[in-house]
Amino acid sequence: MAVIIDGREVAKKIKEELKEKVNELKEKGIYPKLAVIMIGKDKASEIYVRNKSRDCDYVGIEYEEFFLEESITMETLLNLIDELNKRDDIHGILLQSPIPEHLDIRKAFNKIDYRKDVDGFNPINVGKLLIGEDTFIPCTPLGVIKLLEQYNIQIEGKNAVVIGRSNIVGKPLSQYLLNKDATVTVCHSKTENLKEITSKADILISAVGKPKVITRDMVKENAVIIDVGINRTPDGKIVGDVDYDNLLDKVSYITPVPGGVGQMTRAMLINNIIKAAEGK
Ligand code: NAP
Repeated sequence: MAVIIDGREVAKKIKEELKEKVNELKEKGIYPKLAVIMIGKDKASEIYVRNKSRDCDYVGIEYEEFFLEESITMETLLNLIDELNKRDDIHGILLQSPIPEHLDIRKAFNKIDYRKDVDGFNPINVGKLLIGEDTFIPCTPLGVIKLLEQYNIQIEGKNAVVIGRSNIVGKPLSQYLLNKDATVTVCHSKTENLKEITSKADILISAVGKPKVITRDMVKENAVIIDVGINRTPDGKIVGDVDYDNLLDKVSYITPVPGGVGQMTRAMLINNIIKAAEGK
């Protein structure tokens, strides 16, 4: 039977360690602070933002929210980011996505000072990840690697297959796995013979966003399965991308949804805010 990777437990442990770090920073007169920008109304984003504020509260990070009207102009958004970039008391800036379509999210990410870019979406940080320099790694990819490390799962030399190539999950995760010396294959919706590729994976990571896209016949015996997907079923349940129940007796490790990667994503935001406050 597979070992169930307990993201909740690992995230809890990491948050305790981070709480200590916040205390140490405060003793040095540094009060870590996050600014969150949210534009318009989006139910899922409201939940995410509420969770982020709870996590910050828990570890003692200060938090300031900026709720902007759906109709704001790009200029207003860029001016706000500029103002936050200049404020010494703000260490991290997070722009909650999605943002309204008339706004250019890339332009906004580019405007966030790369030293305050706790999401790791600014092109400077994306480039640093590419060349293997220390940087802000996006929270979900960072959380996935920390989970593997916490369970002493070897990455080096392993065949890692990532399904999904988004800028926030698939691409940075693939790059980070490569930096950790895995042999990486990235798949997407146009990939031919997906099953042939996934069945060779020692570590299979799905970041697709479709329930049961990974079935038993697609995975290798004793593979490690990381499920990044978050999907809501018609009856309101949250499930991942993986046919979890049917994989349990075939694989060596597996993450549940909920209780897996999602918890780590939250903890890694805290990690990145502290990194920003430390000026590293
Ligand atoms: P996204 O931007 O929609 O990307 C999905 C990726 O999956 C795309 O690259 C797409 O290929 C690929 N894809 C779609 N259908 C496929 C198929 N049938 N076979 C192979 N590849 C397929 O999504 P995202 O933002 O990366 O998020 C992915 C999932 O992770 C979502 O469920 C999201 O909610 C979840 N998520 C979870 C966390 C967490 O903390 N656990 C954090 C972020 C996101 P193309 O590029 O060709 O379109």
